[in-house]
Amino acid sequence: MRCSCCQEVLIRNLTLRELFFASSLRCLRCEKYFTQIDLARICSGCGRPNTAKRCQECQQWEKEVGFVLNNQALFSYNEGFKEWITAYKFKGDYRLAGAFATELKRQLQTYPQYIICPMPLSSERFKSRGFNQVSSCLASSGCAYQLILNRKETAPQSEKTRSERLKMPQPFSLNQPIEKIRNQKVLLVDDVYTTGRTLFHGAELLYKNGAKVVNSLTFAR
Ligand SMILES: [Zn+2]
Ligand SMILES: [Zn+2]
Repeated sequence: MRCSCCQEVLIRNLTLRELFFASSLRCLRCEKYFTQIDLARICSGCGRPNTAKRCQECQQWEKEVGFVLNNQALFSYNEGFKEWITAYKFKGDYRLAGAFATELKRQLQTYPQYIICPMPLSSERFKSRGFNQVSSCLASSGCAYQLILNRKETAPQSEKTRSERLKMPQPFSLNQPIEKIRNQKVLLVDDVYTTGRTLFHGAELLYKNGAKVVNSLTFAR
């Protein structure tokens, strides 16, 4: 078997459980990219690790928009994760899409009856990157998903300050008839939860169109 991250042949002995149940396994070198978040100790609004109560930012969101996303994040956004996402998303190493397919699949199984919706890229960005970094991870984990949102082109998020991000106008529109959204539960999936602005925009649009519940899952927080 090969490491799902760097594609090197795995030299350690695999356990039977790993051989039969894991669709992604990482070598010891790549394992350091990912620190799993203890989901028993997170902010119930944004998935921030190592806290048992609702954080300040989420209290603010709740006041402003009237809901939180109950975001769950798989991994800490630490130096390791940054290294992975730089190679995958910014340098475009598509092979890294399956790096945590097993963990992602396991987590998505806790959302039965949800429409799984990766956050879309604008068509300009999709053309320049060549892939949607979120859908590609979902595809490697074997999970069915639907792109129910379209996104207008705006300046790249990663170049914005926090306050600039928070002021961004709504970039999304529906790309499905409203009947497909009404009374549905939707799980928005994104790579990193930063300010939450983009996810909240997506959720606001879906609620406005009659969605019953909108939650989110991010690869890192
Ligand atoms: Zn590796
Ligand atoms: Zn929070």
